Formats: sequence, structure tokens, C-alpha cells
Amino acid sequence: MLATSKITISRKALESNYRFIRNQIGDDANISWVVKGNAYGHGIEMFAPLAVACGAEHFSVFDASEAYRVRKSLQDKEVQIMIMGMVEDQHLEWAIENNIEFYVFEPERLEAAVRAARKVGKKAKVHVEVETGMNRIGYEAHELPHVAELLLKHPDLLQFQGLCTHFAGAESIANYVRVTQQRKTYKRILNWFANQGLQPDIKHVACSAAAIRYPPTRLDMVRIGILQYGFWPSRETLIEHNSKVNRQDNPLERLISWKSQVMDTKTVKTGEYVGYGTSYMATKEMKVATIPIGYGHGFTRSLSNAGRVLIRGKRVGVIGMVNMNAITVDISQVDHVERGDEVVIIGNQGELELGVSAFGEFSQQVNYELLTRLPMDIPREIVD
Ligand SMILES: *Cc1c(COP(=O)(O)O)cnc(C)c1O
Repeated sequence: MLATSKITISRKALESNYRFIRNQIGDDANISWVVKGNAYGHGIEMFAPLAVACGAEHFSVFDASEAYRVRKSLQDKEVQIMIMGMVEDQHLEWAIENNIEFYVFEPERLEAAVRAARKVGKKAKVHVEVETGMNRIGYEAHELPHVAELLLKHPDLLQFQGLCTHFAGAESIANYVRVTQQRKTYKRILNWFANQGLQPDIKHVACSAAAIRYPPTRLDMVRIGILQYGFWPSRETLIEHNSKVNRQDNPLERLISWKSQVMDTKTVKTGEYVGYGTSYMATKEMKVATIPIGYGHGFTRSLSNAGRVLIRGKRVGVIGMVNMNAITVDISQVDHVERGDEVVIIGNQGELELGVSAFGEFSQQVNYELLTRLPMDIPREIVD
């Protein structure tokens, strides 16, 4: 089946973002490139090899199936992969066998890791995630003695690869106090482990926002997601960065473009409704075009009567409801629109650009969510 839209990923944009990020972080900390959520919608199989070509050596994913996809897409290239979320019991042995590092965050996980490592005959590389204030996952203080006991008891089965935590909103200055508290708590726990005679191989806490905003959080490794794809964790983070370096432009480049084409055009008479129901009525005679993308393709329903796309170098608005596989746009102000004309949903056309965040502002969603909602079956291609 021919797809109704296409996504392209820019190699040059990625190279440029990598240079920018490395420049910001400096040379001391390793970078783990976060490719969970299908590489934030870009497609793991496309993205991981591109990242390796840019110098990536360490990847972070959410679960074992993503780890497997990274491994597979890189064939025999040697990279480290870290699972930050879920490793189910049945995947533990595979992970250990394949040298995949993984988070442990509750007592049963670590015991299961010991059992699996014994069975495989190889050390499990564990990252101990500790609760510092996000209250999502992570060992609570009272559980730590058990963790230390297991690590001390099984040095042949457990490698204390990392001690980590995650900040609850480092992209917003409003969370400054909470993040500062989390940093203190992390430090206290690190010292506690040291007093038990336990040192993690690496210490890591920072996501994109923390790595940019709070240099002391860089430690031995930073976990960078959104920045590498060319987006800021929040508008605030960009503004703060720019004021620090005294610039106005955006140093990051969007990798992704998403394009479709005009499926059909027609004229609608005054007083008629467009699409399902009565959500849009033509108040004058108008020309409309239908585009074969809808909420089933990640073009969310909340863009009904609100979203924008580019056609023939002009910005045009969605009218009526977003359907499962189609939207209708008002092309009354655009000349000579024909079936087959290029439609840009994310990207550039002529002088104009539609970024995901512009799209996000309309739909009240952030970049993270919009990107990861792009379905896997939209074909993706790498361009320069
Ligand atoms: C997603 C995630 C990151 C990366 O976050 P960005 O804001 O995209 O850089 C880092 N650490 C953990 C634990 C995550 O889940």
C-alpha cells in the first residue's frame, strides 16, 4: 500500500545538534542518547545508525524490546544500551547475556537480577535508581540497606554500574526548589553507599534540561533525549540559554519533516457545513482541500478547527473535525491548488516553517507527546 504521508530525518541537523550538545556539556561527561518512544517518533531503526555515525556510544531505552531494536539496527557495532524502565522477568536473562545495562528500582528486581545472572553465568550491570523526590520509581531510603547487602553479597553476579535518579521538571524554573532538594538527597544517598564501601561505576542524574541548566548535575554521564532531535525541553530553557550566551537564534535544528499531499479539492457554498456534523459552516463560498492524514496518523483531534499546514507556500487552517484518516483545510486564499500538491505538516515550504512546537501550541501538547505519537508505519527516509 502506498502511504499517504512521509517523514524525513535530516542527517545534517543531527550532526549539528550533536556538536551543539557536546559543546554545551563539555568533554568530561559521557552522553547517553535517549531513544525511548521509538526515538521520540523518529524511528529507532533509522535513528540509531545515524546517531552512531555522529559518535554515539551509549543509548538509553525504556524497555527490553527497544533495547533489542537498537541492538538489531546496529548489527555488530559495539555500543552500550541501558534500559531505564521496565525489564520483565522473562527478559532479564536476555539482557544480561547481551551485556545490556538496566535500572533496578524495587527490591524484587534486584533479587530477580541475581537469580538471572547466576543462571546465565554473567554479571548483571545494574543502575540503582533512587527516589529523591519525583515519587515515580526508585528505591526508598528504607530499602537501601537491602540493596547494599545484595551488592556486597554478590560481587560476582552484580556490577554496580550506576547510581541514578530523575528530576521532576528541570525544564521549569518553578521547580527550582524541588530539583535542588533532589540533588541534595542524591548526594546524601551517594555518601551513604560510600560508607557501606560501595561506589557506582558511574553517577548520572541529568536529562536534557538539567544538563543545560544545572552544570553540576552532569556528573559522569548525561541522558539526552529531546535536544538531539532539535527541540528544547521547554521554551523557558531556550530563552534562558539565549540570554546566557547573548543570542537570539535557535542553535538547534529540527531533524524531522512530515509531508503529505492534496487528495482532493472542492468548492463549498455559503451556509453549508464542512465535514462531520456542524462544527464548521462556510460563511461565504469557499475552496477546500482534503489531506489524507488524520488522528490515526498522529494529527490529533484537538487540532480540529485549529491546526495549520502549508500548501503552495501559504499557511492554511484546518476546518471542521480532524477525522481518522483525513483533514479538510481552507484554501480560499491560495491560488491553483491541485490534487497531488505538496502539503507540509511539519517542516519548511517556501519562506514558511511549521515546527512541531507551533503545532503543539495549537493543540496544547508538548513536543515530546506529538513526536512520540507519530505512528511507526509512516515511511521514514534519511535526507542530508
Ligand atoms: C526520557 C528520559 C530522559 C531524557 O529526557 P529529555 O528531557 O528528553 O532529555 C532522561 N532520563 C530519563 C530517566 C528519562 O525517562
